[in-house]
Amino acid sequence: MAQHNCIFCAIVAGAAPASVIHDDAATLAFLDINPVTPGHLLVIPKRHASTLANPDPADGARLFVVAMQAAAALRSSGLRCEGVNFFLADGEAAGQEVFHVHLHVFPRFAGDGFRIVEGGIAHPSRADLDAIASRLRAALP
Ligand code: AMP
Ligand code: ZN
Repeated sequence: MAQHNCIFCAIVAGAAPASVIHDDAATLAFLDINPVTPGHLLVIPKRHASTLANPDPADGARLFVVAMQAAAALRSSGLRCEGVNFFLADGEAAGQEVFHVHLHVFPRFAGDGFRIVEGGIAHPSRADLDAIASRLRAALP
């Protein structure tokens, strides 16, 4: 179901412009209007889902397969592309601004100016890592 006031649903419906690079029954990939580097694109499930909280495994798998194909296309396209970053912001605290799931795929090259700011707790003990791993194993489906 298309979500009212969702810009990506409008793109899927053909009601908003997009520079599309891939279109299949479940997935759309198009260029980001505010690219980190030339070729920066977004891969989205056509079916509206605001976050990954209740993912359809098939949609998630298809999203990643299309993103891998898009990354290969970036590498062979002639665009400057010495590496590729995938980025997915799931939730406002993670930096999500458009609440229709999307996976960013963008070319990287030496001197492109993009930086991931380092942060977080530096060098936790193995006991701390093992305790978190244990919680996550228990929480996995
Ligand atoms: P975020 O939700 O932070 O992962 O990022 C949303 C991304 O969507 C940003 O990189 C925007 O530049 C991009 N964006 C927003 N509106 C459009 C649009 N109409 N067409 C293409 N990209 C868009
Ligand atoms: Zn939507």
